Amino acid sequence: MSFAATILSLYPDMFPGPLGASLAGRALERGDWSLEARQIRDHATDRHRSVDDTPAGGGAGMVLRADILASAIDAATPEGDTRPRLLMSPRGRPLDQARVRTLAGGPGAIIVCGRFEGVDQRVIETRNLEEVSVGDYVLSGGELAAMVLLDAVVRLLPGVMGNVESGAFESFETGLLEHPHYTRPRDFEGLSIPEILTSGDHARIDRWRRAEAEELTRQRRPDLWRRHLTGEDDA
Ligand code: SAH
Repeated sequence: MSFAATILSLYPDMFPGPLGASLAGRALERGDWSLEARQIRDHATDRHRSVDDTPAGGGAGMVLRADILASAIDAATPEGDTRPRLLMSPRGRPLDQARVRTLAGGPGAIIVCGRFEGVDQRVIETRNLEEVSVGDYVLSGGELAAMVLLDAVVRLLPGVMGNVESGAFESFETGLLEHPHYTRPRDFEGLSIPEILTSGDHARIDRWRRAEAEELTRQRRPDLWRRHLTGEDDA
């Protein structure tokens, strides 16, 4: 059974968007994963098909109604569906490679994309939504965030990446940022490829790459570096 993604959005036409291109797009065509984007507005009950309302307690903006979103979620969740239900949200746990890997090993995900000020708290509680953030900044909607999450997941699905190895040694998988890369030409604007890389000595190359990765991580990401040193496997 392949990874099944169901998106709930007010802009389902945004999908597959970038997920229809390149690796993810070819994998989608092959059926290595599936994508269904559903319109939340189809569950509106009034004549104007409205889905949002003013926030209780006052203030700016609009909030997605609990009843309409709950009905959209229920309609997208067949009996016995075990997929996690995610809500893209800046308040959520920041997405990381460990969560991505766990999702890629599971049956799929139901992903709710917020708009406006967000969604009514009661739907988060009653429908057991796991809030997931893609970073400490605010987007105008959850769709791009959902695409980021799916792109990261899909490339890990079996058969999606041509070179299986390229999943294992890159940034975050080892808890470190990746070493720098070089390719032809050998000389570029006065800069040449580090000699070690053209030496053919694979043990030395591995050591050099490791040292570069460590130095880069230490300089750029003290948070990852500390975790690496204390041996916590939380990459
Ligand atoms: N008022 C909210 C922001 C709402 S932004 C707040 O201050 O927390 C509208 C929608 O965009 C959100 O419901 C969410 O689905 C999505 N979104 C915005 N930023 C996001 C982020 N960093 N990660 C994931 N989803 C995000």
